[in-house]
Amino acid sequence: MAGRPGAGQNGAVSPSVEVLNSRLAKVLATLGPSTDPPGILEAMVDVGLDGGRINCAHGTPEEWRMRARALREAGARAGRAVSLLVDLAGPKARLGDVVERQVAQGEEIAFAPAGIDGGDALPTSWPDLVGAVTPGRSQIVIGDGTPRFAALREDPERPGVVVGTCVRAGGLAAKKGFVVTFAETDLPALTEKDMADLRTAVELGADYVALSFVNDEADVRSLRGALTAKGSDARVVAKIEKLPAVESLDSIVAVSDAVMVARGDLGVEAGVARVPELQKAIISAARARGKLVITATQMLESMIHSAEPTRAEAADIANAVFDGTSTLMLSAETTIGDFPIEAVDAMAEIAAAAEQGLGPREQEALHSGRSAAVIETAVQLAERVGAAAIAMPTETGSSVREAARHRPRRPVVAVTESDRVAQQLALEWGVVPIVSQERPQDTDDLVAQLLAAVERSLGLPSGTPVVLVYGPTGAGAGQTNLIVVREVGDTPVWEDWVV
Ligand code: PEP
Repeated sequence: MAGRPGAGQNGAVSPSVEVLNSRLAKVLATLGPSTDPPGILEAMVDVGLDGGRINCAHGTPEEWRMRARALREAGARAGRAVSLLVDLAGPKARLGDVVERQVAQGEEIAFAPAGIDGGDALPTSWPDLVGAVTPGRSQIVIGDGTPRFAALREDPERPGVVVGTCVRAGGLAAKKGFVVTFAETDLPALTEKDMADLRTAVELGADYVALSFVNDEADVRSLRGALTAKGSDARVVAKIEKLPAVESLDSIVAVSDAVMVARGDLGVEAGVARVPELQKAIISAARARGKLVITATQMLESMIHSAEPTRAEAADIANAVFDGTSTLMLSAETTIGDFPIEAVDAMAEIAAAAEQGLGPREQEALHSGRSAAVIETAVQLAERVGAAAIAMPTETGSSVREAARHRPRRPVVAVTESDRVAQQLALEWGVVPIVSQERPQDTDDLVAQLLAAVERSLGLPSGTPVVLVYGPTGAGAGQTNLIVVREVGDTPVWEDWVV
């Protein structure tokens, strides 16, 4: 492990920290045909994969089962907790059986709502198109962004039919997805297919379930309610890809466990130019509430067919790290790409290099409550004493998430009895989850266990300073109130600092 802080011996304080050469931002890869051949997932885990995503917009439940099993096996083989995220497709509107053709700028096109014969209007799956349109604001955007129609209005001759003028030329094709921007949607948050896929997600023991096309907090609550009703404690991810969601960002973040900057559909809806600014706003909103945030889509697009990333892609990944994303996501690069292992490797390497350029994060007064303040202080103390790692025990993972929200510049070794908690923590910034069934009898035992976990998981040599954060043994979740600076290899006696 290169770059070990030299400070910290005998409690010496060093404000200039040489940060550990270990990656803190996590890598999540979408599973698909390219990850199916034997040995691929194992190799992806070996080069740093922290989680796998199943995208329910593609594939069959049989394929998802096979991929989930393969992911768990790859994690077990590597002796690492690896997270499984199931992404529900959500209510995607689609064109009906339209004839394939190009639409020119200035051309007028009519769109018929679901179940209405609008003559030559294009059939769609949207039940109340007219009701969805916010006059003067909404556009209809097909596919990945073109063609795009503005000046939407109801056809006076055909009630329910919406007419728009093409403002960006492009092609129409049967079953293409489309969005109505600024839509007051009447589509259900969870479709019938989503409910069926949710059952599969629960059966697979998904650690995270994501919902597409979230409009507001009610949509997130629907997903959580459906999971709870099925007895699942999977963590809920709201995908931010619609403008109404951007406008209700804070209330969505408040009720979600995590959010995803879903840049593909966000770019369709808001326009590509706004994606960087919205990415920063979404990451900042998530950090302010201590929620996990995933940055997704086209991060290494060129690696679908190339073994090397472009400079622009490296800069994009680094910027997401600088913005404070917890997790970086791969999509087509790993589902259908020619280089799924190389893509994970490149993403991990670029993130680790970017982290070397991070200064100590500005400490914001984000916390509420005593434990949160103690944890924030421990993160600051780790900076101050040049600790190589922070270690903490956790029952539910919440105290570890509290540490991760500060985006510490060193790993947070999280010792838990629960495989489930370890898998959920695997996507959190800087967290190295360790499962241990040993129940410490007293505080000395706990300190010894934490030091051993740091030594084993990070391979740190004796004498390396680490910060331990915990509560009285047996006190349960939310009781964190002790911080100790120790050195790897110490015997567990109370000779150092107790804050
Ligand atoms: C996105 O739109 O960026 C996204 C992640 O969603 P999906 O891959 O489901 O389109």
